[in-house]
Amino acid sequence: MLKLKIKEYDVEIHTSSFIKNEWWDHVDPNEMIDLINPATEELIGTYRAATREEVDLAVVAAKKALNKDSNWMTMSLLERGRLLNKLADRIESESEVMALIESLNMGKPIFESENFDMKQVVSTLRYFAGWTDKIGGKTIPLSSVSQSVAQSDNSTILTYTKQVPIGVVALILPWNFPLQLLMWKLAPCLAAGNTVVIKPSEITPLTTFYLAQLVKEVGFPPGVVNVVSGFGPIVGDALSSHMEIDKISFTGSTKVGKMVQVAATNSNLKQVSLELGGKSPIIVFDDCTNLDQVVLDSMHALFWNAGQCCSAGSRIYVQSSIYDLFVQKMEALVKNRVLGDPLEVTTQQGPQVSKTQLDSVLNYIDIGIKQKARLVCGGKRSDRKGYYIEPTVFADVKDSMTIAKEEIFGPVMCLIKFDTVDEAIEKANTSDYGLVGAVYTRDVNKAIIVSDRVKSGLVWVNTYNLIEASLPWGGFKSSGGGRDLSQYALMEYTETKTVVISAKF
Ligand code: NAD
Repeated sequence: MLKLKIKEYDVEIHTSSFIKNEWWDHVDPNEMIDLINPATEELIGTYRAATREEVDLAVVAAKKALNKDSNWMTMSLLERGRLLNKLADRIESESEVMALIESLNMGKPIFESENFDMKQVVSTLRYFAGWTDKIGGKTIPLSSVSQSVAQSDNSTILTYTKQVPIGVVALILPWNFPLQLLMWKLAPCLAAGNTVVIKPSEITPLTTFYLAQLVKEVGFPPGVVNVVSGFGPIVGDALSSHMEIDKISFTGSTKVGKMVQVAATNSNLKQVSLELGGKSPIIVFDDCTNLDQVVLDSMHALFWNAGQCCSAGSRIYVQSSIYDLFVQKMEALVKNRVLGDPLEVTTQQGPQVSKTQLDSVLNYIDIGIKQKARLVCGGKRSDRKGYYIEPTVFADVKDSMTIAKEEIFGPVMCLIKFDTVDEAIEKANTSDYGLVGAVYTRDVNKAIIVSDRVKSGLVWVNTYNLIEASLPWGGFKSSGGGRDLSQYALMEYTETKTVVISAKF
């Protein structure tokens, strides 16, 4: 049990594996994981890493909760929806403290955790709570019944599909939006009637552990939701290669996503959905209205969560005639960004999540300078204690440079010049990634052509990061496959079963 004092709150969080609605405190000693506050580099606390054995126990519990006479399986769809809504209400009532826990553990400004992460968590859960009794199939007319062996009359055959739960689903999560991304998966997964084993990132597990307490409190039957937090190569691998898990839904890096896919294939060929990295383009044409607003949008698109977003608008293509002005305006805005304590409401940028991330981002900045991109502002670690990096802008970046090709996952912006529509599209599509993209223009023709030809799972026109539970989320190319959010996510957590009934009387 971790006891914390955050602002005026005294918080207690169970930090052991959550299996069958119990905390596995009594198990053997194992390696401990330090939770470091990225804003101060001080220890928040330690917790015991989960083991492969605990993964097995969690899977057994999740399987048992799928038995036909279990409370989860006999619960009406209405009741299932009510339970999800009850959890949403409970999270909402705790959202202030949960936002503080997220910001303390992860380093994101409280303004973001409270107004965006927590609001999304609640709205996503409510959205999918409404789906429990609407996940239907189709009736399908048959075209060639007379050719079938025993049937000659179409009217005596009924053919339909059902969307049935997949079974035990493992959810493997990253550290950048710990609770929000969990809910993008957990809510549709439960709405569809599956049971889950959750593996949060081992460095940001606190809000997931806290959620487990609420799951138990609101009355989810034992085994429906289980949490095991430990190292990726142990707990993550145990889940990916488990013979009794039916599906893995993974969000994280492309490198680890590939490993998960291989482990899943080599074990029981379980289904896999992957939400991976990004290097998203923003294309700004010189006819856009209100350039100041476009610069502001582009700044948020990159610097949100200190640049630690899969959707970060990290390649900004600006048309030549407004390029110099755009750079100038961006520099003025970025230089004014307020770095500070994530728990203070005035803070706009917190630290990077860990020393590893700090070093990795600083290394990319060095590479950018060595490869002769023009450093407009920032470019080094901040003087503050903690893993802070000055918001950094590079101009005159070439698509061939490392900083334009690789996912930096930090507060480092690349500004690139272009002239024509075709050139902008070609440049945008040079990336191996294809998660999201944006175009800013007043010209509807350009908007349609660019949004159609940019290879990414989502394209915004004249806006950025507009994300809703009802909109599908997912990538093309190395950004993965499958979709989070929206009714498409329900397809990720159900199998399609076809039933053919022949009346013989
Ligand atoms: P990561 O890939 O390092 O880790 C993700 C999860 O995988 C963690 O829980 C980790 O413990 C686990 N893991 C590590 N090794 C494993 C293994 N061998 N087998 C199974 N699991 C293993 O990613 P991260 O550093 O936590 O997060 C950042 C990455 O996530 C970035 O690349 C970012 O773009 C991506 N991301 C994508 C989306 C999206 O929606 N596409 C959203 C957020 C983050």
